[in-house]
Amino acid sequence: MSFRVCVLGSGSAGNSILVCSKEAKILIDAGLSTGEIVSRLAMVATRPDELCAILISHEHIDHLRSAGVLARRYKLPLYLNTATFEAAKIQLGKVPRLEIFDPDRGFQLHDLLIEPFSVPHDAADPVSFCLYMKNRKLGIATDLGRPTTLVRQMLRACHALILESNHDPEMLLSGPYPWWLKQRIRGGFGHLSNESSQSLLRDVLHEELKTVILAHLSEKNNHVALAYQTAAQALQERGDLKNLNVALSIASQHQVGAMIDV
Ligand SMILES: [Zn+2]
Ligand SMILES: [Zn+2]
Repeated sequence: MSFRVCVLGSGSAGNSILVCSKEAKILIDAGLSTGEIVSRLAMVATRPDELCAILISHEHIDHLRSAGVLARRYKLPLYLNTATFEAAKIQLGKVPRLEIFDPDRGFQLHDLLIEPFSVPHDAADPVSFCLYMKNRKLGIATDLGRPTTLVRQMLRACHALILESNHDPEMLLSGPYPWWLKQRIRGGFGHLSNESSQSLLRDVLHEELKTVILAHLSEKNNHVALAYQTAAQALQERGDLKNLNVALSIASQHQVGAMIDV
């Protein structure tokens, strides 16, 4: 049996991903409200007290919002790195159990191997995660300003990939955000544009990659169709991969995604 993943919600208003294996159910980020997370978990037949851990990628509120409350209410251990904890501890409050991981060093959670890896983003020590069970691999990369060599390496050989496709550069520049925020988003420590996401996807495509979920789309600076088309172009361009058969979809801010087999 492989493991499964479900994006509970994704975007600048809040992010949370559920990963379920035979032995473990874990939440990656808890950026939606507590009520939203509990009700969205219920939609995929999961109770919060069944979770065995919450992993935190970085301290931005759209990833952290309800982490402290969930950890206290359901006695869940919180996994994060030292700098993220220091930046997050006021927002988190007292938590029952802290598990500090090293960036770039893997650790085991029941039958899942978790490999955090550093990403360029304007937070204290932001990471994304790869998760493995037996020979299956899930890659997650959101909240990164640019695809570094490390990111490209880490996202190779995934069977399922959740990848940021945050904004269309022209929509961002002509959009409603103040100039400083536009600069922040498009900078090397901001968020991945549709084009950068496409380039990264083109590099990591291989015939065993079956699922790509585009995530953390901006509601103001992107259109679902635009993000989809840009990523789909990367798939079309790799005509050299004869058996390529990727299910491409977009994670929603407002609705729970499908439960996907990795
Ligand atoms: Zn975010
Ligand atoms: Zn962020």
